[in-house]
Amino acid sequence: MSTTAGFAPLDRPAQYLKGVGPKRAEALARLGVRTARDLLFHVPRRYEDASTVTPIGSVQVGMDATVIGEVTHKGVLLTRSGLRIFQVLLRDETGRIECAWPGQPFLDRSINKGDLLLVTGPVKFFHGRQMQPREHFVLGRAGEDGDPRGRVLPIYPATEGLSQRVMRSIIEANLDAILPHIEAEEVFSREQLERAGIPPLREALELLHRPPSLADAERGRRRLAYEEAFFLQLLHARAHHRATVERPGIEFRRTDRLIGALYRQLPFRLTSAQTRALREIFADMTSPRRMNRLLQGDVGAGKTVVALFAMLLAVESGYQAALMAPTEILAEQHARTLQRLLGDLPVKVRLLTGRLSSSERRTTLAEIADGTAQLVVGTHALIQDQVRFHRLGLAIVDEQHRFGVRQRMALAEMGENADMLVMSATPIPRSLALTIYGDLDLSVLDERPPGRQPVRTVIRSERHRDRVYDFIRQEVSRGRQAYIVYPLVEESEKVELRAATAEYERLASEVFPDLRVGLLHGQMPGEEKDAVMRAFSAGELDIVVSTTVIEVGIDVPNATIMVIEHAERFGLSQLHQLRGRVGRGAEKSYCILLSGGDEEAAERLRIFASTEDGFEIARADLRLRGMGDFFGARQHGVPEFRYFDPSRDEPLLARARADAREIVARDPELERPEHRKLREVLETKFGERERMYEVG
Ligand code: ADP
Ligand code: MG
Repeated sequence: MSTTAGFAPLDRPAQYLKGVGPKRAEALARLGVRTARDLLFHVPRRYEDASTVTPIGSVQVGMDATVIGEVTHKGVLLTRSGLRIFQVLLRDETGRIECAWPGQPFLDRSINKGDLLLVTGPVKFFHGRQMQPREHFVLGRAGEDGDPRGRVLPIYPATEGLSQRVMRSIIEANLDAILPHIEAEEVFSREQLERAGIPPLREALELLHRPPSLADAERGRRRLAYEEAFFLQLLHARAHHRATVERPGIEFRRTDRLIGALYRQLPFRLTSAQTRALREIFADMTSPRRMNRLLQGDVGAGKTVVALFAMLLAVESGYQAALMAPTEILAEQHARTLQRLLGDLPVKVRLLTGRLSSSERRTTLAEIADGTAQLVVGTHALIQDQVRFHRLGLAIVDEQHRFGVRQRMALAEMGENADMLVMSATPIPRSLALTIYGDLDLSVLDERPPGRQPVRTVIRSERHRDRVYDFIRQEVSRGRQAYIVYPLVEESEKVELRAATAEYERLASEVFPDLRVGLLHGQMPGEEKDAVMRAFSAGELDIVVSTTVIEVGIDVPNATIMVIEHAERFGLSQLHQLRGRVGRGAEKSYCILLSGGDEEAAERLRIFASTEDGFEIARADLRLRGMGDFFGARQHGVPEFRYFDPSRDEPLLARARADAREIVARDPELERPEHRKLREVLETKFGERERMYEVG
């Protein structure tokens, strides 16, 4: 005998809910619905606004219409060519219309006479008006289930064995009984709800399941989205609090001895974005709190100069500063750039990478330990055991998605209470930055230094290939260099892509036998990769054929052509990173997208070709692909959201972040009775992630 005794109402297994038996419970389980609570949170995927339904009598040929009517006739028609067409006749009080689904005779099993049917699609002329629905929903039985017209109809995520109609009836049958119990699970105080402008949980769920209007449904979603965003921000706020407030920081003292000198000798004026970022960084550094900040800016936005000013503030105050880069080449590049910007200023820059000879290494380690080395640039060699800093005051991590939270913190841990600055050259929308780097304060360089030449971006197809090769040859003959990038390394039999290795051989031996062509791909050992890039950088190669490994901050000003094969396979943000490899010198540069995609892909590429603003591209990318694909496999620890949508919920996120920080400032351990629930939820949801921030 089945019993529901012993279960709290919200934990009651779905099987015992009204209208659900073992069979439907199985189908519900496939949707992740196992309990009454799950059912409540199984919210509509979207809505059909039946308040804007067209009366059948007013439907006209050429319209794209949504109508609701009763199925009065139905049948499957066989055409002379053998095509089977499912047809119904729909009726409302204003008229009748025929609907046809060519090639879908199986619909005969799910649509019945007497059903109330909603259809959406184009209206054509075929022996009179005929609709060919793109979508259809059985709303119920005509006359029995009430009139849906004028209502907003929820469309639920459904599955095999559970039609929209059944899903809706299960929800309807149980909603009133379950809803009151959810009140006990409200986590937010009245005050917080009001400040955020969102309804209580119970009301939100009711609005989602039975919205009087689309705007009401959206109010309900915003509540759940806020909740998702808030708890992540609460996690970040606690990490931020621990890193900046609980540990005393260094109060750097600005004398302007070095900073002033650098200002005067810079060959350019700082952009207003750089000035703003510096003001924020200096404020952190001179305060008694520890700095924990992200400096985000597109490639070429001028992060290095900003970083250098910050390092000089540390040096002026008698501390060392360290800059860690993800690869040796980048570390070397940084060291050279810093040295160049410093000119004759009396500051000692040292480089620590795996490429030093053992005697060089000994000397460098000694200089780091006795403080002679004031600015230390390196790879993760910087965070190894043998490294001892004399007095590290500022740790800068040039991250490029390469370091995890632990590693970036490890560099700061090389000092006593060193301030931390993370630099990222991947433009991401602010909402995502706050989501992923929420424990950091954010400074954004959203302005490019003046005078940069735009990169000319063009889209070409297979038939232009020879002309593209001619163009490369022409540029090379003028002393320029080119990148040719492929999406894959190994040729797979299934995927017909021109993989880098196969193409490299063809290009080197058949197309450009007289030019110096190199190959770069992800499966090569690190030293080999570095060797190829060094050769390219030194002008010993004319062309590098590569997979996306060159994405990371490589700077070869003489390279003026970036050819991207199968451009339609890349995300816009990735294309942007690739394009950023050219246009770095005085010569005119080109980005050539070879593409054979469909119209949708072509549209994406046109958006890309139309702008060089990395943030704008990132926003478009996020909107077009959603969050999972935006990051692909590149980024670990990207949270998944059910209700929160980073492409439209940025203001909501900002609110959640401010609220979380405010609560943590008042009650860092969430010990007050009114915060007990917040703490419980945080622990169940994020216990593991919280521990990630704890460094030994
Ligand atoms: P990022 O590190 O953000 O990719 P860099 O710091 O390497 O960018 O700067 C790119 C180039 O722009 C460098 O050559 C740098 O000297 C130059 N630069 C930086 N700031 C300015 C500015 N305000 N005006 C003109 N050029 C600048
Ligand atoms: Mg400080």
